[in-house]
Amino acid sequence: MATGKINVSVDNIFPLIKKFLYSDHEIFLRELISNATDATLKLKHLTNIGETDVEYGNPVIDIKVDKENKKIHVIDQGIGMTKEEVEKYINEVAFSGAEEFLDKYKDSAKDSGIIGHFGLGFYSAFMVAHKVEIITKSYKDEPAAHWTCSGTTEFTLEDADKQDRGTEIILHINEDDEEFLEENRIEELLVKYNKFMPIPIRFGTKEETLPLPDDAPEDAKPETKTVDNIINNPDPAWTKQPTDLEDKDYKDFYRELYPMQFEEPLFHIHLNVDYPFNLTGILYFPKMSQDMNM
Ligand code: ADP
Repeated sequence: MATGKINVSVDNIFPLIKKFLYSDHEIFLRELISNATDATLKLKHLTNIGETDVEYGNPVIDIKVDKENKKIHVIDQGIGMTKEEVEKYINEVAFSGAEEFLDKYKDSAKDSGIIGHFGLGFYSAFMVAHKVEIITKSYKDEPAAHWTCSGTTEFTLEDADKQDRGTEIILHINEDDEEFLEENRIEELLVKYNKFMPIPIRFGTKEETLPLPDDAPEDAKPETKTVDNIINNPDPAWTKQPTDLEDKDYKDFYRELYPMQFEEPLFHIHLNVDYPFNLTGILYFPKMSQDMNM
């Protein structure tokens, strides 16, 4: 096992991270899922270009809330990291990003929108957690690594026995942030920030009602089955070609976006621009009614 001291001139950067980003604790989940998504897409790319022959499969990102032990787990099946990469990307690159961020925005850093540009994404975990663990196994044939940090500049890094490829981030949630141990709160954040991310995000399971067969007796009760609770639609309509979509697909997508809007849209325009910039999107024009809130 290696222990070390993160090389940073600010004595204790973590209270600063908390202070600067205080108003927006909830973005930690968006940042971690964005890293998990990146790691998965990187693996996809490497397999596409023949750089590795590992099986890409059908990766998902799992979010688990362990209310009893006050932990949140974010688990991906992406490229993972070797021990050296954890040293490099977490202890050096990400940390210098945090330092640069604080340096530049000492007086004005209230806008957490800029957080991602400084590679501070990962460290936003310390806004809600007093201790963070990374258990990660690279797609390369190397032992897994286990990094632990309790919100000081000290960390530990040792071998782990994780066998499957990818990264698990474990957040030990602060007492003040226990709202994030509520499943409803996490589901709300997942829908708010991750509804159209490209890799499926699984948050436990849910009950799904199966359609009744046509010849079912009138008093038949529909059966339910337990299925994965996939939060996002990794393949939203606007990313498809208009020629591949029917009117019904557009209406279904409108309903997905605005479940509380009972009227169908009046019409829609599918934007698909290549030049002078790339733009795809769907504009929906709602029907006007007397009680519509302009
Ligand atoms: P950024 O994502 O902006 O580069 P982060 O602080 O969020 O900055 O992460 C730093 C680096 O740590 C990433 O660039 C990546 O190399 C590595 N990393 C973070 N999370 C993961 C993950 N889930 N799987 C693999 N690598 C990761």
